[in-house]
Formats: sequence, structure tokens, C-alpha cells
Amino acid sequence: MRGGGHNTAGSAAADGAVMIDLSRLNDVVVDPLAKRAVAGGGATLAQLDAATQEYGLAVTGGVISHTGIGGLTLGGGMGWLTRRHGLAIDNLLSAEVVTADGRVQRTSETEHPDLFWALCGGGGNFGVVTRFEYRLHEVGPLVQVGLLFFGLDQGADVLALNRRILRDLPADLALLTSGVNAPPAPFVPEEQRFQPGYAMTVVGFGPVEQHAALLDEVRAAVSPMFELVTPMPYVALQ
Ligand SMILES: Cc1cc2nc3c(=O)[nH]c(=O)nc-3n(C[C@H](O)[C@H](O)[C@H](O)COP(=O)(O)OP(=O)(O)OC[C@H]3O[C@@H](n4cnc5c(N)ncnc54)[C@H](O)[C@@H]3O)c2cc1C
Repeated sequence: MRGGGHNTAGSAAADGAVMIDLSRLNDVVVDPLAKRAVAGGGATLAQLDAATQEYGLAVTGGVISHTGIGGLTLGGGMGWLTRRHGLAIDNLLSAEVVTADGRVQRTSETEHPDLFWALCGGGGNFGVVTRFEYRLHEVGPLVQVGLLFFGLDQGADVLALNRRILRDLPADLALLTSGVNAPPAPFVPEEQRFQPGYAMTVVGFGPVEQHAALLDEVRAAVSPMFELVTPMPYVALQ
């Protein structure tokens, strides 16, 4: 199955495997009072986030917005909100599934609970999920973002610091360190652009002061080469 911008309805590969394209099954309906969203099985994270953030709500997704919610949710789904609200699959309330015998079944903890249990960890092996219903949480819409960039020679210190901080990090803060090339962005000094290094991204969903205190702790431990600290909409972060 694939989400994204593919428009073929279905095609058979040489080995007989069939590709089912769900990309047009991408509608997202939000119930802001019940804090629930129902999304088509081919929706992307960008589509889910855009619809839920209209109401200041969100569910855990991954950190790259063109990922499909189908594979992400059925595989667990980790992102900025995981420490606060669990995995994407932890927030799945029900699913509409087309099973191999062509039946359309609604599954939840009370309807076809065995199938629902299988979906919660069994990936896409039990049928085609055409609708995902999620529990939503109040998020943003503005969140605090700090991106601190370190040189290659600081890698061991940065990764050790990342591990130490994560042990006691409050759930309102999220931390991700990745090995990347510095982007050609205005906040990056000219000579550092495209250079490899380590980016530590610190996201705050709670008070600004809490986020600022963690950034101070990081700077005191390992000096970043440059940084960007700014509030931004959650959808922009995604
Ligand atoms: C750039 C990038 C960034 C990523 N970042 C994260 C991240 O931050 N957090 C994270 O948790 N994961 C992340 N991932 C991993 C991602 O969650 C998986 O690749 C996921 O499988 C993508 O889902 P998809 O629907 O787009 O993929 P697809 O390739 O379309 O599907 C993957 C699998 O899921 C099955 N499947 C898809 N939709 C359905 C459906 N509706 N019903 C039944 N089965 C279905 C497919 O058959 C296939 O087996 C990332 C992947 C990429 C490429």
C-alpha cells in the first residue's frame, strides 16, 4: 500500500504481488469536541496534522510529514509527541479494515477485538486499513524549537549528553539528535553550510522557561557551533 501522490488504482507486479494505491483515500474528519479524528488509510502525516491543528489538536506522528499514516501507525509510529502521548498506535481507537475475503470490518477494543489487537503491532498483515480513528490531544499550535548544531569532533560528547538528558526529561520536552549536513539556511554561518555534524533538536510543548532551561543545560555541557531558537507552529515543525 502506499500513500503520497500516486494515482494508479492498483497494479500487479511481475511476481504476482499487487500494489493497492490508497493515496486518494486521504480525507481527514476531526471532531474537536470529542477530540477524535478519522483519517483515510492513504492520508499523509501532513494532511492529518493540518486538519487536527485547525483545532489546536494533534496525535503522535513521525517527524517527516510526507510519511503515510498507514505504515507509520501500523508499525508503531514515533515522533515529537511520543514522550507526551505514546506512539501513534497507542492512540488508535478504531480502524476500518478490508480483510482478504473482501469483508469490511470495523475493529476496536470492543468490535472484532482480536483483529484490532493484531493491528496494534502486527503491521499491514491482517488487511487493508481504509480508516484510522485516533484520540487527539491539545498541542500548540505554537511550540518551542531549539536546533543546536555541533561539529563532527563533538559527536561523542553530544551523544553522551543526549543519553544523560533523556533519562529524566519531562514529558513536555522532546529531544532528537541526528547526524546531518548543516543546511544552507540564514542562521547557518556561510563556512558551515553543507558541513557534516550533529544537530540536536529540542522541542518544548510546555512553558517557554522549561524549554530555555534545557537549552542552557545543553550549552553548558557542550558548546554548539551555531543555533536557532524560536517558537514555531507545530505543523511547521512537522
Ligand atoms: C523519510 C522517512 C522518515 C520517517 N520518519 C519516521 C518517524 O519519524 N517515525 C516513525 O515512526 N517512522 C518513521 N519512518 C518510517 C515510516 O513510519 C515507515 O516507513 C512507514 O511504513 C511508512 O508508511 P507508509 O504508509 O508511507 O509506507 P508504505 O511503504 O506505503 O507502507 C509500508 C507498509 O505498511 C503497509 N501499509 C501501508 N498503509 C497501509 C494500510 N492503510 N493498511 C494496511 N497496511 C498498510 C504496506 O503494505 C507496507 O507493508 C520514516 C520513513 C521515511 C521514509
